[in-house]
Amino acid sequence: MDSEQSQHETVPSILASEITIQEIEKHMALCHPQEGCGILFGGMGQSGWRIDGFEPCRNMSREPGRSFQLDPAVWIKHSFSPRLLGIVHSHPVSAAAPSPEDMKQLQSFGAMIRVYVIVSSQKNSSNLSAYTVELVEQGVYALRKCALLRMA
Ligand SMILES: [Zn+2]
Repeated sequence: MDSEQSQHETVPSILASEITIQEIEKHMALCHPQEGCGILFGGMGQSGWRIDGFEPCRNMSREPGRSFQLDPAVWIKHSFSPRLLGIVHSHPVSAAAPSPEDMKQLQSFGAMIRVYVIVSSQKNSSNLSAYTVELVEQGVYALRKCALLRMA
């Protein structure tokens, strides 16, 4: 009975191409021990959001070891692209979960993105968490954890 019930629970999933994940992991490893960041491209697939492109951004934060700020020139260049899907950044020394600062920042661009990915880049092993961006009330955005499925 329990296993049957859990099968009926729908965990939303986000698809990502293996090549794109490798590009993201490579960039985050290069930025380590600072936070790396970048823009995700893609669109809506048959079963949900699908990530199939990544463009690294310079981290313009004054404290890049503990926060990130996307290079505004790169962000502006892509902000009206129909393929803009989301953003990704890394946590060099902590888990792939959003920090209070991440949630604060999200409010300023939550309207423009659908997907949010965090990479924990500690100890050469990368661990990715994917979230959808949800409008919970007017002007307030939250992140909903999803399963990240890799595809060829
Ligand atoms: Zn963060």
